[in-house]
Amino acid sequence: MSEGKNRNFSLIITVVIIGMIYTSRLFYLQVIDSSYVGFANENSKKLLVIHPNRGLIFDRNDKLIVYNDNFYDLNISYPFTLKDFDTLGFCTILNITKESFIKRMKKADKTVYRGSAVFYKNLEPHKFAALQERLYEYEKFYIETKVDRKYRTKSAAHVLGYIGEISKKKLETENEDQHYAKGDFIGISGLEKYYEKELRGEKGSKYILVDSRGRHQGSFAKGKYDVPPIAGKKVSTTLDLNLQEYAEKLMHDKMGSVVAIEPSTGEILTLVSSPGYDPEDLSIRRKSKQYIKLLRDPTLPLFNRAVTAAYPPGSVFKLLNGLIGLQEGVIYGETTFPCFRGFSIGRLHVACHPHSPSLDLRGAVANSCNAYFCYTFREILENPKYKSPREAYIKWKDYMTQFGLDNKLGSDINFESKGNIPTPEFYDKMHNNRWGFSRIISLSIGQGEILITPLQMANVISAIANRGYYYTPHCLRLVNDKNEIPKEFTTKHKINIDKANFEIVVEGMAQTMVNGTAARNSIKGVQICGKTGTVQNPHGKNHSVFMCFAPKDNPKIAIACIVENSGYGATWASPVATLLVEKYLGLSDTGTTRPDLEKRLFDAYLLNVPKPLTPERIKFLKDSTEKAKKDSTEKATRRPLGKNNPPKKTNHTDILICDKDQRIGKNQFFKYQKF
Ligand SMILES: [Zn+2]
Repeated sequence: MSEGKNRNFSLIITVVIIGMIYTSRLFYLQVIDSSYVGFANENSKKLLVIHPNRGLIFDRNDKLIVYNDNFYDLNISYPFTLKDFDTLGFCTILNITKESFIKRMKKADKTVYRGSAVFYKNLEPHKFAALQERLYEYEKFYIETKVDRKYRTKSAAHVLGYIGEISKKKLETENEDQHYAKGDFIGISGLEKYYEKELRGEKGSKYILVDSRGRHQGSFAKGKYDVPPIAGKKVSTTLDLNLQEYAEKLMHDKMGSVVAIEPSTGEILTLVSSPGYDPEDLSIRRKSKQYIKLLRDPTLPLFNRAVTAAYPPGSVFKLLNGLIGLQEGVIYGETTFPCFRGFSIGRLHVACHPHSPSLDLRGAVANSCNAYFCYTFREILENPKYKSPREAYIKWKDYMTQFGLDNKLGSDINFESKGNIPTPEFYDKMHNNRWGFSRIISLSIGQGEILITPLQMANVISAIANRGYYYTPHCLRLVNDKNEIPKEFTTKHKINIDKANFEIVVEGMAQTMVNGTAARNSIKGVQICGKTGTVQNPHGKNHSVFMCFAPKDNPKIAIACIVENSGYGATWASPVATLLVEKYLGLSDTGTTRPDLEKRLFDAYLLNVPKPLTPERIKFLKDSTEKAKKDSTEKATRRPLGKNNPPKKTNHTDILICDKDQRIGKNQFFKYQKF
């Protein structure tokens, strides 16, 4: 036989074999397996979806953070004709009126999907229990179990994110594998969104028999065709829940953020955006009540400042200018520049605080000398190595991008901002193609057009702690106890600056905590390397900024902290960050060696909105009023009374003791008293 005939013969044999397999399978299903007769009848079976348990979320020490909590929807099967139906009894169980019943039926008619519709969402436990017992009487109705999220903490809401019903758009555009159906839940933000595929699990299915009137008649073929659901995977995060909760407590009643990273891995230990919210507020069952409230809150608790807010970096930028100056060879560690209360060029003057008039780089970092870094930045831009300051600026900007600035870092926290390091074209336009050092002098000290997010700031300090490299900050540690970290989080990003140059700047940061701007926040038993920053804020009081890592050798933690509108870096941000270092490194059996400082932070109220009136607070205020009223009455009765000296009328009922500018009710302002 020729080769072509051989091929034809093989093809015929294959077709015959496949045909025989099909015929025998059909014979088995239709003749031998009688259950398929019922299965084939579209009118006799109904497919029920069984939702899987969503994957649990843990912290880095295997502490459970997020788990599942079932809730129940009461569904109705199509067609919605109800014969011999005890409407009154049914309404009594659900505690709804007949009108509400009719309204719900009409709504169900409009929202029917795959043969059924939701009649009553999220049954209350007592209604669920009462219905369970009598559901057989209302055969068209059945209960669908759904999975909501519960939390073992009131912290980390911005990191964890939340789940919600899938939108129509996502159902059309993000449903390649047809996993989702209308009404299903999906991760909307945070880790719930980023790791949706790991967390969601696989749905199960169950066939039930229904009669011609749509009434359920038990499972089909003894559950032979049912598919059990597969639970979502366990996701272990890099968060240290203890540290996260402590950081949120320290940042309570303050606006700002804290990001702590393990430098050697890029693992995010803590990420706080304050004010925050209780993660459970956005659970499926509470969201409708809480979301609008959170949205209207003037302190913007839904806004993730840690990754979305971009600030001028302030003095912490001096570290980068110092490093670039060293690497470009325009300064050395021993280079000194004079500072007589600032730096002047033409009519410009950048002021500085009092310190020794001549400092080297280490001393300039420790004392945060503005003049030193103006000189340094001028040397960088006017480096004869480059044809023009513009060309030198392009090189300078390249170093900045190596530190992860001017771009999204690509972490697994959503809504990252890219910050801003202006392009040379931006300055060309701004200064009509004629610009140099004097036009962008503010960049020397981290002011001006540059913007950086707290996450980027923590990443910069992490890169300095590593003396020249970083891993993209991330929150994923393990999936189902296995290392399945995406490659982008394990790739080393190297910075083209010599390790020796980093050592010089690190020395300066160590001095900051010994005899520099944050000396009062040093801790016994560990060498912290830090840098204070006070960022000018055109809208109000300066932002307090602090970056640090510890210990100096083999760093375990790098932190960036911003406390908005609060003043100097050493006053607020530095205490927050150093208390976190102390806690994370376990330097004290009691949690801190500085309980007074800790208390000062716990108690401080630094928000620029009046303190909210909680029920406890209102009670306290009322009690104080009663006491004031009583004291005043006693005092009044002691006064000598007479015809010509009647007691003055006092009306104390409206005088409550309260915070400054606090207001209760319409047009009622109250006295200020500190408590
Ligand atoms: Zn100075």
